[in-house]
Amino acid sequence: MVVPGILTSDGAGVNLRRIIGSPQLNMLDPFLLLDEFGSNNPEDYIAGFPPHPHRGFETITYMLNGKFHHQDSTGNEGHLTDGSVQWMTAGRGVIHSEMPEQTEGLVRGFQLWLNLPKDKKMIPPAYKDIPAENIPRVDFPGGTAKVIAGEFMGATGPGQPHTGMFYYDIELQSEKELSIPVIDGWNAFLYVYEGTILIDQTVKKDQLAVLGKAGDCQIKAADQGAQFIVAAGKPLNEPVSRGGPFVMNTRSEIIQAFTDYQTGVLDKV
Ligand code: MN
Repeated sequence: MVVPGILTSDGAGVNLRRIIGSPQLNMLDPFLLLDEFGSNNPEDYIAGFPPHPHRGFETITYMLNGKFHHQDSTGNEGHLTDGSVQWMTAGRGVIHSEMPEQTEGLVRGFQLWLNLPKDKKMIPPAYKDIPAENIPRVDFPGGTAKVIAGEFMGATGPGQPHTGMFYYDIELQSEKELSIPVIDGWNAFLYVYEGTILIDQTVKKDQLAVLGKAGDCQIKAADQGAQFIVAAGKPLNEPVSRGGPFVMNTRSEIIQAFTDYQTGVLDKV
């Protein structure tokens, strides 16, 4: 299945492309949302994401280019720069802001929402900044891979998910091939952000492909080469109830999250 992202806006008016969490692909268990933000035009990103809450999942922000400043209600503060990753476990609750630290130039990256299993939704929030130099880079014949989480060709990524998953950023040169092992039964996707790849079908720039549930994923770059992110996760197979920035298992837990936010105890329960 190949899915195009849809253009939308979020935060205080940041233009972005929603790839998972859209009408075409509501979720891919355990992934709840994938956004790509990318623009040279400050009007598309300057308003940023002023303070807002989350509960029940993890946000993984991968900056290809640009500088963002993060602050949250637990006192954590971080600076995202080119090639860095911010791994935030919202757990029982966090209120944070994600604001650009630049007034011109290119901002480009991804935010992926990874669900937390039922018994971990109310764990204390956690935050980790991963500088670009701490993300292992694996060179293989025909390309390179940055390992954000999980293991690939002997390198282990610094991300520490609370459920089985991997997350790589791969560059594949013209006509080169790559095989990516995926554990049987895991849900996997790839999203092409430059160039074109060939799997069992053609996947172009700005398209996501949901991969098969069994066997390795065989990828070939088209003649202009390709850059893509690829992630896979063990499905939680649990009920999902969504309410804006909160993702829980039941409707009443969502209502409780809104109540806790409105009464100022979101991150104190
Ligand atoms: Mn957020």
